[in-house]
Amino acid sequence: MKITLKDGSVKEYAQAMSVLDIASDISAGLARVACAGEVDGERVDLRTVVDKDCTLNILTAKDEGGLATLRHTASHVMAQAIKRLYPEAKLAIGPSIADGFYYDIDFASPIAAEDLEKIEAEMKKIVKEALPIERFTLPRNEAIALMKEKEEPYKVELIEDLPEGEEISFYRQGDFTDLCAGPHLMNTKEVGKAYKLTSIAGAYWRGDEHNKMLTRIYATAFGKKEELEAYLTMLEEAKKRDHRKLGKELGLFMMHDAGPGFPFFLPKGMVLKNTLLDYWRQLHKKAGYVEISTPIILNRSLWETSGHWDHYKNNMYTTVIDGQDYAIKPMNCPGGVLTYASEPRSYRDLPLRMGELGIVHRHEKSGQLHGLMRVRCFTQDDAHIFMTPEQIKDEIMGVAKLINEVYTLFGFKYHVELSTRPEDSMGSDEDWEMATEGLRSALDALGLDYVVNEGDGAFYGPKIDFHLVDAIGRTWQCGTIQLDFQLPQRFELEYQGADGEKHRPIMIHRVVFGSIERFIGILIEHFAGAFPTWLAPVQVKVLPISDKYADYAEKVRKQLDDAGIRVEVDTRAEKIGYKIREAQMQKVPYMVIVGQKEEEEGLVSVRSRFAGDEGQKNPEEFIKALKEEIDSKIQREVKAQEA
Ligand SMILES: [Zn+2]
Ligand SMILES: [Zn+2]
Repeated sequence: MKITLKDGSVKEYAQAMSVLDIASDISAGLARVACAGEVDGERVDLRTVVDKDCTLNILTAKDEGGLATLRHTASHVMAQAIKRLYPEAKLAIGPSIADGFYYDIDFASPIAAEDLEKIEAEMKKIVKEALPIERFTLPRNEAIALMKEKEEPYKVELIEDLPEGEEISFYRQGDFTDLCAGPHLMNTKEVGKAYKLTSIAGAYWRGDEHNKMLTRIYATAFGKKEELEAYLTMLEEAKKRDHRKLGKELGLFMMHDAGPGFPFFLPKGMVLKNTLLDYWRQLHKKAGYVEISTPIILNRSLWETSGHWDHYKNNMYTTVIDGQDYAIKPMNCPGGVLTYASEPRSYRDLPLRMGELGIVHRHEKSGQLHGLMRVRCFTQDDAHIFMTPEQIKDEIMGVAKLINEVYTLFGFKYHVELSTRPEDSMGSDEDWEMATEGLRSALDALGLDYVVNEGDGAFYGPKIDFHLVDAIGRTWQCGTIQLDFQLPQRFELEYQGADGEKHRPIMIHRVVFGSIERFIGILIEHFAGAFPTWLAPVQVKVLPISDKYADYAEKVRKQLDDAGIRVEVDTRAEKIGYKIREAQMQKVPYMVIVGQKEEEEGLVSVRSRFAGDEGQKNPEEFIKALKEEIDSKIQREVKAQEA
């Protein structure tokens, strides 16, 4: 058989071999660090025997798939440790996730955060015991019998739900056996030392709130100790920046039991939101978009035509008006399509770029809600572009440039992923070919690096996702560009071509921020609440040294206010040091301190978040420089020795 390796080289073998044997044949060093294999794109065990021509990639902890295997094996080690310490605990599921892994467990009595250390200590022993990990399969009835014997009801349920004829595999390490599809490392020792149990949460069995609440233990593992440490430092930093905590301290938004998942924006948060929306409108006007607003409630027949009623109903809120079913929109697309179809269109109208800051509602399970990051009501910075096939490339480039401009402004780096046709999809091969090529050629023309996710597109078209990287290295998927031939077909959209014939337009769905609410959550954490001056809800705080200077403070406030700067005065009878500290806590970019000297000379003393004491300034000059900073949206550098 011929094995084609990642670098294109080909190895030939006379007999079938395991992935591990092939890794050893390549080099002993590679075999030592190998975590899993990838055969023809599918992640497999090192134990998997290869017996025919294929492409093979050996995965280590440096690869996403290798690290996932390491983490998942660590989750079994954690489960084994738990069973040793709490024999009556029942195991549910324990997958690897983006930042680590978890295991859902039904404990006989609740455990506390302190118990995590105990579990970690037991895991250490299991790793040290260097237990070989073996895989075996069982027929369905024997698999069920084994899990019944071990009194693991959740595993029994999982097996019962597997489709008839599916191979049922188990992994055994020492006295511990777990139902699992794999892949896994070869030995518990290979889990190494770089793991950490991070938190406990509640999680419903199978994510369904009608089921029992289990205990989810979150943990992480890395290939190297330094990577674990960097991750834990990042977690600490993330805790300090938590947008729920800062949102409260800075008076930006709140949540209330009266509407779980429906955020309230407070006055300062509203300033922030409107500032972002103003910026969005300016940017899109410049890029040739028009703005529309479509209804929040539309009737059932529309959602049936769009396909949402059949495919998305579980996430939609519905209502009844005059005896008829209606839905509260989870997406803006059908409204956008009706707007397109409201008048005859010609090729001369295309591309037609219709933006909509649309408020959408989507049902999320209560356990999934998280501050502004996961809500049930949000504003999408949506747009639908209707165009001819020839316009795909230019339009995609236009959107990608727009997204680049926005992310760069906030200091985000980002990476791009292109997702292609999934197995279950609608439309002709030709359409898919043309659309995918359009996306690809646009990315190439822009010189953007991107990862291809084969088969990960939507059923109606391929897409490009933008994942931004925040100040502490976390990634967030925000922007998307999605190509769609289905909706124009479902709604029978048309335009008259240059040939006088009717043609069907192609549609792009795209967002830059994604959800404005979530983007605000990301911005709060990215800037740790210290927004650039143009975004800051209060840009200047005027602080009179005492009551005597209240009139002069008011005069300065008015001057700033007249210049369009967001300003407040602190007239309370507090010491100046106290007022300064409070303004600092509120992350106000500029403080203007006024006392006798300032009043006599008609000056202001400026303190900034960026450079500390900036000395006395003439108010007009201060305003002029401030306006420039705001208009250019520049984020001033913070001097290291800030007082
Ligand atoms: Zn497993
Ligand atoms: Zn859409």
